[in-house]
Amino acid sequence: MATLLDSKGGPEARSRHPEKQEREDTPLQRKPPWIRVKAPTSEGYLETRQIVRDAKLVTVCEEAGCPNIGECWTKKHATLMIMGDTCTRACSFCNVRTGMPAALDADEPRRVGETVAKMGLGHVVITSVDRDDLADGGAEHFVAVVRAIRMSAPKSTIEILTPDFLRKGNAANIVIDAKPDVFNHNLETVPRLYLSIRPGSRYYHSLRLLERVKERDPSQFTKSGLMVGLGESKQEVMQVMDDMRSAGVDFLTIGQYLQPTRKHAAVDRFLTPDEFAAYETIARSKGFLLVSASPLTRSSYHADEDFSQLRAAREAQLAR
Ligand code: SF4
Repeated sequence: MATLLDSKGGPEARSRHPEKQEREDTPLQRKPPWIRVKAPTSEGYLETRQIVRDAKLVTVCEEAGCPNIGECWTKKHATLMIMGDTCTRACSFCNVRTGMPAALDADEPRRVGETVAKMGLGHVVITSVDRDDLADGGAEHFVAVVRAIRMSAPKSTIEILTPDFLRKGNAANIVIDAKPDVFNHNLETVPRLYLSIRPGSRYYHSLRLLERVKERDPSQFTKSGLMVGLGESKQEVMQVMDDMRSAGVDFLTIGQYLQPTRKHAAVDRFLTPDEFAAYETIARSKGFLLVSASPLTRSSYHADEDFSQLRAAREAQLAR
């Protein structure tokens, strides 16, 4: 049985996922050659790490153990994770620490804004842990962060990757009304697998959230992502694509699920780069403005370049 310890170790080391401790171990599969990435060592990577540490901010890049960190951080593209490093959900795919989070840090929005300015980001992605413990799910804090970025880095475009605000009334509207340039909420997997992969979430609630964004503010780009390799069928993935298009989703990302530890959901299989290319072709034919599908695609991977393409695709569509 593997024990999950805080990756930072030391005397404060503690279980990252207490709810998973009693689970049976699942085997870790050897990754295929197209998944392997180099250890991050570049100067840009180290500079980004220092900026994040100095500002006492958290990134999903580190907390989720993202394989693209070397590439992204070399270009100073870090995805900041607000509202702490502890999530109130217990998804079986995610390596973010779970448990009862600390109180919100009222100074965090200012530090996020200043950090975005310092990094010189043309396009920034902000995500968060789930905060089911807060009456508004953290909606007002998200808005404070968006405003702080607008103040400190007015030229940066803003993409938010939000929780689902399940059972939080109209809290999502507060975030939509902050008018981020891109509103991203990941469906993550097909509905049949929700109970085992995203047990605290509801597929149709997440889908409806994306639809609500479009209804409330059609000018906002909507974006959603899927992990594959969890045991879903091709037909199920295509059904999710159709559901997303019905909800008006503009941009779809599809990437390979990677198992963080033996206590997390097992990889069912590694899809080949050709299979990702086939998904991309199918999704484009269904009318998404933009599709990114590759083994290492993640929600925020190449988000800046993709945003430019998204805008260009909309302009081209409007011109037709
Ligand atoms: S893909 Fe996203 S989460 Fe991963 S390192 Fe890049 S910015 Fe961070």
